[in-house]
Formats: sequence, structure tokens, C-alpha cells
Amino acid sequence: MISPGVRHVRPREYQEACALLHERQAAPIAGGTELYLRMKQGVATPRSLVDLTDLPGMRQIERLADGTLRLGAAVTISALERSPLVAEAAPVLAEAAQRVGAPQIRNMGSLGGNLCQETMCWWYNRTALWRQAKEPCYKAGGSLCHVVDQEAVCYAAYRSDLAPILMSLEAELIVQGRQGERRMGIDELYSGDAAFPFTLAAGELISAVLVRPLGEGDVAAFAKHAHRRSIDYPLVSLAVAARGWTNGAAGRLRIVLGAVSGMPIRVPEAEALLEAAGAGERSVAEAAALVAKHAKPVRNVSFGAPAYRRHIAKVLARRLLGDLLARRRASSG
Ligand SMILES: Cc1cc2nc3c(=O)[nH]c(=O)nc-3n(C[C@H](O)[C@H](O)[C@H](O)COP(=O)(O)OP(=O)(O)OC[C@H]3O[C@@H](n4cnc5c(N)ncnc54)[C@H](O)[C@@H]3O)c2cc1C
Ligand code: SF4
Repeated sequence: MISPGVRHVRPREYQEACALLHERQAAPIAGGTELYLRMKQGVATPRSLVDLTDLPGMRQIERLADGTLRLGAAVTISALERSPLVAEAAPVLAEAAQRVGAPQIRNMGSLGGNLCQETMCWWYNRTALWRQAKEPCYKAGGSLCHVVDQEAVCYAAYRSDLAPILMSLEAELIVQGRQGERRMGIDELYSGDAAFPFTLAAGELISAVLVRPLGEGDVAAFAKHAHRRSIDYPLVSLAVAARGWTNGAAGRLRIVLGAVSGMPIRVPEAEALLEAAGAGERSVAEAAALVAKHAKPVRNVSFGAPAYRRHIAKVLARRLLGDLLARRRASSG
């Protein structure tokens, strides 16, 4: 679907793509599964779409000389699901990919588009006519929020399924801009302001995601809770990755909550609790409580009562963290 009056360009060089993106009202596009919907709702109004799919390496999955898994940003979610290289280096990423939307979304939708999908809120992601019935909220250019009685704060939810697991794996992003290429941790992608969630500057785009493969002694898991299994955004998701966990090393744990805030959130207190030597069943319960405490969802997604989502965060944490600890104990004794 190309909207009338919207220019669609398909550059083959990064310099050209970044120059085009620097123009006012230009937006990158890959699969279009998320952006076209926002265009239909009138909350995104680009005048030109810069298609990223023909840029070099964008649709490639490879292992670099040092073993790093390099995923081109326009690789589809289906390709991640099926790639033998992903299955070998980070099977948990393929599992998370399998939980994104439905097959049609995964066949079109890309990794970069998944990471750069906008935050969502049921007051905002509506038709223009519906939105006109109320004063514009902060994200729509006004100053108030219809969900929480506060000015200039947005609580829209970021619901990418791939971001939490990539954050737990401490993935890095390759970003292309008019000045060339830079590398940043995936956690640096987020501004912390749900109304303007990303730190990418005008003219910048993500060209690849780098993942250090899981090795011997490393363990990772992902869990998602949604109303329907067949097709649905997460109400809550949880990703855990533990490096050096079952080979007698000190062990480093990353716990990341998804879909309950304007960005994926790490829970360092729970990580420290379980990293400590001698962590037992009680630590799992305490860590799960900390995870639930960090989850502060608000009433802005369909069927997602905040107390329910917080409860589910605790349930998922008990399950994943309990399993993680059991695996560590089994390996040590
Ligand atoms: C019915 C439905 C269900 C869905 N369910 C889920 C779900 O369960 N889990 C989930 O995570 N997502 C879900 N999605 C959201 C989305 O479709 C997918 O995340 C998909 O991966 C987006 O990829 P895309 O290539 O289609 O993105 P696009 O629509 O092409 O782009 C999305 C956004 O990212 C920007 N962008 C795209 N690529 C780049 C890049 N390389 N660098 C910088 N910016 C970029 C675009 O400008 C746009 O703002 C769902 C969508 C629909 C319509
Ligand atoms: S959380 Fe508030 S400011 Fe953000 S989109 Fe919803 S109503 Fe608007």
C-alpha cells in the first residue's frame, strides 16, 4: 500500500539513504507492518518513505570472524525464526521471534522495524476522528495525558518482543548517519520519554544488530504473556540471559521487562540478588517481587489492567528465574 502523495524511494547506498532521511517528514520503512498502520491512523504523516531493504547487508544474517552474530536490520522476523545461524548462536532469539504477531506480520516485518516500532496507547492509536473528540494529549502535541493526570509525561507502552531479549543479551546496534557509521549498546536506543522514545537523530537508521553468541555455561530464556497466542502484542514480557552461569564462573545475569513501560527495563536489584553466591528459593521469590515492583503499567492498552499485568510479571519472573537457578545448582552439584 503506497498512500497517494507519498514519495517512495529505494536507495542502494547508505549515504544516499541518510541524506534522504534527513529531509523533513521522511521516514525509514522496511516491512511497513507498523508504520502503515500509524499512517492510516493519521499519527504518522511522512511525505516520503525511504525503503531500507536494498541497502548493503540489510537482509543478511552472518557470523563474523570473531563469532559475533550479525543481523541485518531488514532481515524479516521469519528469517530470524528459521536461520540455522541464529539457532546455533542464540536460539532464544528465534523463540522470541516466533512469538511476534502472526506469520503474515513475521513474513513482512523486520528486525529494525520491530526495534523502532512506536510506543502505543489506546488514547492515541485511534482514528483521527476518534482522537478529535478529546483534547490532544502530550504525545499528540498537547500538554496533558489522558491516562495519568500529569502534564508533559507520556506512559505509552513499548511492545517490541525482540528488544527485551536483545537487551538481555547486551546486543549492539550499528547506526548509519550522514557522518558515517557508529556503534551503540541497544539500551542507548531509548530516550526514556515514551512520547519520543528513540535517540536516533534525523538522518540516522539502524543497519545491523550484533549479538555475542551464547556459549558454554550461558543460559537465556524469554516469556511473553498476551491475550491470544495466535496473534497479539505482549501485555508483559520477560527476558533473562545469564553468561557464565553453569560452568562454575561468577555468572552475570540480565533481567529485562518488556511492554510495561516506554522502553524495556532492566531490574538490576533482582540481577544482583540472584548473582550472589548461595542464592536459593527465597532469592527467587524476592527477585520476582522486585521484578513486579519495577513493572509499573498503566491503564493504556486493551484488556491490560495494571494489577493484572504486574501480577503476570511476577509469575513470569518466578518461572524463568526459578528455572535459571535450578540449572545453576544442577551444574554445580
Ligand atoms: C496485528 C499486528 C500485530 C503485531 N504484533 C506484534 C507482536 O506481537 N510483537 C511485536 O514485537 N510487534 C508486533 N507488531 C508490530 C510490528 O509489525 C512488528 O514489530 C514488525 O517487526 C515491524 O517491522 P516492519 O519492518 O514492518 O516495520 P516498519 O513498519 O517498516 O517500521 C516500523 C518503524 O520503525 C522504523 N524503522 C524501520 N526500520 C528501521 C531501521 N532499520 N532503522 C531505523 N528505523 C527503522 C520506521 O520508520 C517505523 O517508524 C504487530 C503489528 C501488527 C499490525
Ligand atoms: S500515555 Fe498519555 S500522553 Fe501518552 S499517548 Fe497515552 S494519553 Fe497520550
